[in-house]
Amino acid sequence: TDRLTGLSNRMHFDERFEEEWKRCQRSQLALSILMIDLDHFKQINDTYGHVAGDECLRKVAAVLKTEVRRVTDVVARYGGEEFVAMLPDTSYDSAARVAQSLVQRIGQTSPTWHGQKIPLSCSIGVACVVPEMNMDKQALLMAADSGLYEAKKSGRNRYILANLAQAGGA
Ligand code: C2E
Ligand code: C2E
Repeated sequence: TDRLTGLSNRMHFDERFEEEWKRCQRSQLALSILMIDLDHFKQINDTYGHVAGDECLRKVAAVLKTEVRRVTDVVARYGGEEFVAMLPDTSYDSAARVAQSLVQRIGQTSPTWHGQKIPLSCSIGVACVVPEMNMDKQALLMAADSGLYEAKKSGRNRYILANLAQAGGA
């Protein structure tokens, strides 16, 4: 586990991803990935300090943990302010709904730090694979990442569905 947030760490995520990838391939099920990044994290750290920054990461983690399915979905801290959610047996449309609700919920979250409210928002890249696409596991993560990049570039506080054709799939 990741000590700061109590979520899975990247290593554990990669293990679960490998397992679920195989299972979904075998059972002909869709698998969706959400790459989630807290917006303006550097600015939060610079303005309020690192302890406040850590508190924001914990709040985001708490939202992620309560807003996705505890048993089947896996949420992990993937990097500094980056999180990943894997939703097995979940279509593009459904994953988009989850992303939408996460953007909304995190946007409603504002930890109080010494009397000041710190407004939070996040950007999300969504990618979904169905077995007949014959896609590489790593390409799915990269596709979600490129969606995240697009979400940042187009103004943050939103989710973007990755273009899998561009990412080398389809
Ligand atoms: P909905 O909330 O509009 O969700 C539509 C579909 O999005 C769900 O279809 C599911 O495929 C996907 N989805 C939504 N949230 C999650 C999530 O956290 N993880 C994953 N992996 N997928 C998610 P589904 O399963 O057929 O559910 C149909 C409707 O049943 C949902 O529509 C919702 O209204 C209700 N529902 C099902 N489970 C729950 C739950 O645990 N809590 C709440 N509040 N409603 C639920
Ligand atoms: P859970 O499956 O671990 O889901 C945890 C939380 O993720 C839910 O809390 C909800 O906020 C979100 N979530 C998961 N799936 C969906 C979905 O399809 N749509 C929406 N809108 N949200 C979703 P919540 O709603 O408090 O539910 C707590 C627990 O109660 C769920 O834990 C699940 O075990 C059960 N549950 C609630 N509604 C349903 C349902 O419609 N069908 C099933 N099979 N279980 C449900």
